[in-house]
Amino acid sequence: MEHASAADRLAAVRSSIAKAAKLAGRRADQVTLIAISKTHPPETIEALLEAGQRVFGENRVQEAAEKWPSLRSRWPDAQLHLVGQLQSNKAEQAVELFDVIHSVDRVSLVEALAKAAEHRGKRPDCFIQVNIGDEPQKGGCPVADLPALLAHGRDAGLAIVGLMAIPPVDIEPAPFFALLGELARRNGLGQLSMGMSGDFEPAVMLGSTHVRVGTALFGERQET
Ligand SMILES: *Cc1c(COP(=O)(O)O)cnc(C)c1O
Repeated sequence: MEHASAADRLAAVRSSIAKAAKLAGRRADQVTLIAISKTHPPETIEALLEAGQRVFGENRVQEAAEKWPSLRSRWPDAQLHLVGQLQSNKAEQAVELFDVIHSVDRVSLVEALAKAAEHRGKRPDCFIQVNIGDEPQKGGCPVADLPALLAHGRDAGLAIVGLMAIPPVDIEPAPFFALLGELARRNGLGQLSMGMSGDFEPAVMLGSTHVRVGTALFGERQET
């Protein structure tokens, strides 16, 4: 697929999502494909917008602020998700720029987002990011702290819709996807942000509602 067009790659990813959904007795439209456009220039993103993709994700507030206001003015129905770690001092800007935030992982951030949401009169959907593999270097709330953080978020008036996780690399991801699904059920949450280019099919089979796919749509990134 290295030289395939953006439209071809998009069709291939959508078809793989549909197949995995069907195997699990789910409908393809129960899975939102988020095209992760971090590091890619606006021209590359435009090709995917022209091919019909409308939901995108970025991992840095600053980069999104540089790229998206002009893209959005031309594609007003585009939706933007934040999938990277968020510093509390950027909460206000994040609420302004993003429709959905996938990386809520601590009480101080819950409070900053609630304040920003009230201030801006805008309430983005939020996912709590869970450190599902208990990895010290990774973002995400420890599994044991999830019920308390969720209660805090609900009390603060955040629209918490689901859980997000990035499983450890080089280990079979399916058990981690299953665990995230179980945690969501236990806590009364309906949405699951899980699955990336290398593992979105098992994620869909295990109930993912939001897959975050970069490389399979855009090709390899020049990491910055
Ligand atoms: C970059 C990124 C992705 C996409 O990764 P690919 O392997 O390129 O599909 C998904 N989720 C998060 C949080 C990311 O930072």
